Amino acid sequence: MVGGIKVSRVSHGYGQKQALIDVSFEVEKGAFCALLGPNGAGKSTLFSLLTRLFVPRSGDVEIAGASLGRDPRQALARLGVVFQQPTFDMDLTVRRNLKYFAALQGLSGKDADRRISDALERLGMAERANEKARALNGGHRRRMEIARSLLHDPSVLLLDEPTVGLDAATRRGITEHVHELAANTGLTVLWATHLVDEISAGDRLVVLHKGQIVADGISEKIAGDLSLGDRFLALTKSEEVAA
Ligand code: ADP
Ligand code: MG
Repeated sequence: MVGGIKVSRVSHGYGQKQALIDVSFEVEKGAFCALLGPNGAGKSTLFSLLTRLFVPRSGDVEIAGASLGRDPRQALARLGVVFQQPTFDMDLTVRRNLKYFAALQGLSGKDADRRISDALERLGMAERANEKARALNGGHRRRMEIARSLLHDPSVLLLDEPTVGLDAATRRGITEHVHELAANTGLTVLWATHLVDEISAGDRLVVLHKGQIVADGISEKIAGDLSLGDRFLALTKSEEVAA
């Protein structure tokens, strides 16, 4: 599993409430994997475990071959994350914001400048480098955030519902861009969403419902003779899942 993600028998609860129940799946290096589930399915909880905000009650996670339980430092060093809530200084320019975060990663000087230029270039944001974050539209702010997550050259990128609040055209632009990053750079992507139109026919797809995986495979195979939207509804109908 060098380069990818391996989640092995992970469970997590909040008090009595079981949010993830014995979740296992693997994403191979360079794949775009959608983690699809309705609100409350457990997507953000899984991300909290993958980023070690929480330590799982049971099970383990490997990031690019490093165990999060046994070797958290090495595992986290290989990880880039885009959370649901943006965290920028709106009064600083795009470049200053990225410089600040580069410094937090221990990057400085010419090396940081080069990485920032590369990351902005990859996201089609090079000409926005000297604009204040406040002046950017929602789509460009998201792109800035994705650029930031790539500064330390991670192997694995996690994005938690990264298109929330964006209009349809911007949503499509960002979705396609991240698909291309996976295809062209070998970056492994785990993209949490509840929107089936962000998923392409050849994508890896893991469907999460009430804390359990209800489908895992290539999206067009999971859809079968239904549209992916109809398949998703059929898989996540609200009869009780045995806990
Ligand atoms: P998703 O991101 O798929 O919408 P979450 O991981 O946020 O799902 O939530 C999964 C379940 O865990 C939901 O039932 C939610 O209400 C519950 N939950 C999430 N965070 C907490 C928390 N801090 N305390 C208690 N319950 C929580
Ligand atoms: Mg969530």
